[in-house]
Amino acid sequence: GMGTDGDHVAFYSQDMNQGMQERMRIETGLRAALGNGELLLHYQPKFCIENGKIIGAEALVRWRHPVRGLVPPADFIPLAEATGLVVQVGEWVLEAACAQARQWKDAGLPPIRLAVNVSAREFTASLPGRVQDTLERYGLEPTWLELEITESTLMHNIDRVIGIMDRITAIGVTLSLDDFGTGYSSLSYLKRFPIDTLKIDRSFTIGLPSDANDCAIANTIISIAQQLKHKVIAEGVETVEQLAFLKNSGCDEVQGYLFAKPLEAAAFEEALRANWAP
Ligand code: C2E
Ligand code: CA
Ligand code: CA
Ligand code: CA
Repeated sequence: GMGTDGDHVAFYSQDMNQGMQERMRIETGLRAALGNGELLLHYQPKFCIENGKIIGAEALVRWRHPVRGLVPPADFIPLAEATGLVVQVGEWVLEAACAQARQWKDAGLPPIRLAVNVSAREFTASLPGRVQDTLERYGLEPTWLELEITESTLMHNIDRVIGIMDRITAIGVTLSLDDFGTGYSSLSYLKRFPIDTLKIDRSFTIGLPSDANDCAIANTIISIAQQLKHKVIAEGVETVEQLAFLKNSGCDEVQGYLFAKPLEAAAFEEALRANWAP
């Protein structure tokens, strides 16, 4: 009857209010975090599979919340994407990654490539100019920087997206296609994208070498990369068996807990020095 329906409505709207309040709390908090130094980057090394050298790192954002502690990106990036705040987060991340690269360059560390994740909403006509400006302000060669983009970025207006990609690669910054195979992939467009690297998603790495489907998918991605003259990296490598499979299949680079978790800047620097020490 009416009463039950009324209760129902009240229940749901209260529930929704709580959800909205939670979202608004995160949004307000994140907006403040951007300005008051609560965001930070961790760096997960990427290794050459052939010689075991660190050739780069992926910058991964975290939020050091005064009450909640270290908040993982999964708890705020999706909301930031929904609200558009991810654009400001992305600006902060690019700035922080380049500032760090400059410090490592000044410290005489081996030159590496720092990868920054770029969400679809950031992939606009103003991005190439901002990338170039940031590199110039920090006095960095473009080879210090890589942008990881996902298939969702490519779904939008293909010609517009390719135009932006071309402007980024013209600077000398490389692009890698993240989480490859998990989203909407159009192989006919793939050949038109000026990308350097395909990244095998952790959801495929996880089943290697026991799951025949994951093996087939990983081998196919490696083969496509080779045919298209792209490099290929596997993320989420946790076991020596996964590593052996990937090496045998011709994968170029690896990243994962088997080698290192995402590290604080100082710990990454130490790992880099140790890895390159003669
Ligand atoms: P992603 O780009 O696919 O990043 C890889 C995620 O897998 C990272 O989680 C990393 O810590 C985790 N990972 C790496 N190796 C292993 C492994 O061997 N085993 C397991 N279980 N996990 C591994 P994280 O740092 O929590 O980031 C999650 C996602 O948040 C990222 O997924 C990315 O989509 C997003 N993200 C992180 N930083 C940024 C950023 O600065 N901007 C944007 N737009 N998104 C970001
Ligand atoms: Ca990534
Ligand atoms: Ca992934
Ligand atoms: Ca991703």
